[in-house]
Amino acid sequence: MAGLSNERIQEFKNILEKKKGKEISWEEAAEGARSLVGLFEVLHRCWVDEQIRKKKLEEHPNGFQLDGIGYTCFICGGSTPVGGNWYDKYGIKCKICQGAIVRKEIPASLAKNRKSWYSKYEIEDRFNIKGPTLRSWIKNGILKARTVTHDGKGVHAQLFLIKDNKDTLPPKKMTESQLVKETKEGKDWFHSEPWYRFVDPKEHLKGYKIMDYLQVVKK
Ligand SMILES: [Zn+2]
Repeated sequence: MAGLSNERIQEFKNILEKKKGKEISWEEAAEGARSLVGLFEVLHRCWVDEQIRKKKLEEHPNGFQLDGIGYTCFICGGSTPVGGNWYDKYGIKCKICQGAIVRKEIPASLAKNRKSWYSKYEIEDRFNIKGPTLRSWIKNGILKARTVTHDGKGVHAQLFLIKDNKDTLPPKKMTESQLVKETKEGKDWFHSEPWYRFVDPKEHLKGYKIMDYLQVVKK
């Protein structure tokens, strides 16, 4: 990490004191300045990596494998193993999900357009249903799922495209949780609460067939 001069720390101390309206110790200012510099270094490194990737993509328009491990797959959310990723204009995918795109089990655009589909977890979480219920809905054709297979076999992930479930699933922005502020012992705390705590679910999702299968439970 680049060294921080005393002038820089003093500058940071002045800004902080002006903002907080009280005196800040040198240690506190130095610590704050260091973590700020650290944050910018991380952001800058990410930006540089991104530029390098974009440049390489011009030479390899179909994509390429990124070095290293532990990238988050934009489709299944899994962490990628050694040699187990693919990067292209839609983003980073694990090898399994990329295979599903090649086999046309799912469109590539899903990686980029996260708003166009619900994951299995999101369906369970946002509509407060359990796995067995969701399975029966799929079996009975209430919801249409796209399956990401392992090379044509089994189930790696199931996705629910809004366009496949038109009139049944609402746009995702209608089912987003919200942050709620709570003041405890003079301190502000935030936690998220599901959308159905803020509206009448039947009214809010009127016209979306999923409501015909949900029960509103008062809490
Ligand atoms: Zn994946």
